[in-house]
Amino acid sequence: MALDSFAGDALALIGNTPLVRLKGPSEATGCDILAKCEFMNPGGSVKDRAALAIIADAEARGLLKPGGTIVEGTAGNTGIGLALVGNARGYKTVIVMTDTQSREKQDTLRALGAELVLVPPTAYSNPAHYVHTSRRIAEETEGALWANQFDNTANRLAHIRTTAPEIWAQTGGKVDGFTCAAGTGGTIAGVGLGLKEFSEDVVIGLTDPHGAALYNFYAHGELKAEGNSVAEGIGQSRITGNLDGAPIDTQFRVSDEEGLEQVFALLEREGMCVGLSSGINVAGAIKLARELGPGKTVVTMLCDSGMRYLSSLFNPAWLEAKGLPVPEMLRR
Ligand code: PMP
Repeated sequence: MALDSFAGDALALIGNTPLVRLKGPSEATGCDILAKCEFMNPGGSVKDRAALAIIADAEARGLLKPGGTIVEGTAGNTGIGLALVGNARGYKTVIVMTDTQSREKQDTLRALGAELVLVPPTAYSNPAHYVHTSRRIAEETEGALWANQFDNTANRLAHIRTTAPEIWAQTGGKVDGFTCAAGTGGTIAGVGLGLKEFSEDVVIGLTDPHGAALYNFYAHGELKAEGNSVAEGIGQSRITGNLDGAPIDTQFRVSDEEGLEQVFALLEREGMCVGLSSGINVAGAIKLARELGPGKTVVTMLCDSGMRYLSSLFNPAWLEAKGLPVPEMLRR
C-alpha cells in the first residue's frame, strides 16, 4: 500500500493527529490517560485513515480507474472519508447508510458531493442491510469499487502502518495499554497488532458498547449481544475480516450513560467536543487503567467530533426521547 505517494497533497493532512492527556480521567485513576484526537482529521473522524488506505490499496491493485466510482455501506464517517479522498483523486462516491444516522453526517455527505442512498436499519442477515445493498450497487455499477471496510484488511493496515507507530512515537514507547470500541474493528485490531510489533507487553482492551456481541465473544467465546446503544459507528455482532486475529487481552462493557458522562466531562473539563463512541472509549480507558493500576499509561481514541451530533447528543429533547439523562450543562 503506497500511502507515501500522497505526501505533499491535501491527503497528507490525514493522520499524525495530536495525543492529549485527559486531566479528569488521569486524576481519577492515577494513570496517564491519553487520547488520539482523530476528530482533527480533515473529514472529522478516524475513518479518513481507512478511506485513504482502502483507496490507495485499490489503486495499487488496479481496481480503481480514473473517473471510477467508490461504493460503500457506512455509518457515515467512512463515507465522508471516502468522499473527501475520492474528490481529491477524481472518483465519484455512492454512500449507503441507514436513515437513523445523524442528520449532520447525511448533510455532510451531500455537501461533499456523494450520492447518498438511505435505507432502513435491518439485521445483517437481511439482504436489504446497508452493507449488502452497497455491495449490490457496486456490482451493478460499471467501473465501481466496493470499499468493503468491514472485511477489507487495508482498513486495519492503515492503523498498523500509521496509528500504532504514531502512538509509540508520541509516548516515547511508554504505553502500557490501549483500548477502543469496534465498528469494523479496523482500529482496535490494527492498533493492537501494530503496538504488539513494538512490544508484546502492551495490553489491548476491547471496549464494547451495549448491543454489541464482541464482549461475550472475547470473554466467553460466544457472539451474544445484550442491551442496546444509540452510539453511531460502533457495536459489532460478528468477527469481521478486520477483527480476525485481533490481539484482545481484556474486554469491558460500557453503557451509553457511562459514555455520555465522559462526553460531557470532556466538554466541560477538557474543552473538547466529541461524539458518543469517544465517550465510550474514555470510559473504557478508565476501566483499563483501573485494571492495570496506578502509574500506567493508557491510550484511547477520540473518533469524531460532537459537532456531528448537535441535533442528537447535545439536544435535550432528543436525549429525553431516548430515555437518557440530560446533563446539567444542557439545562442552563
Ligand atoms: N467511532 C465512530 C464515530 C465511527 O464512525 C467508527 C467507524 N465505524 C468507529 C468509532 C469505529 O472504528 P472502526 O471501524 O475502526 O472499528
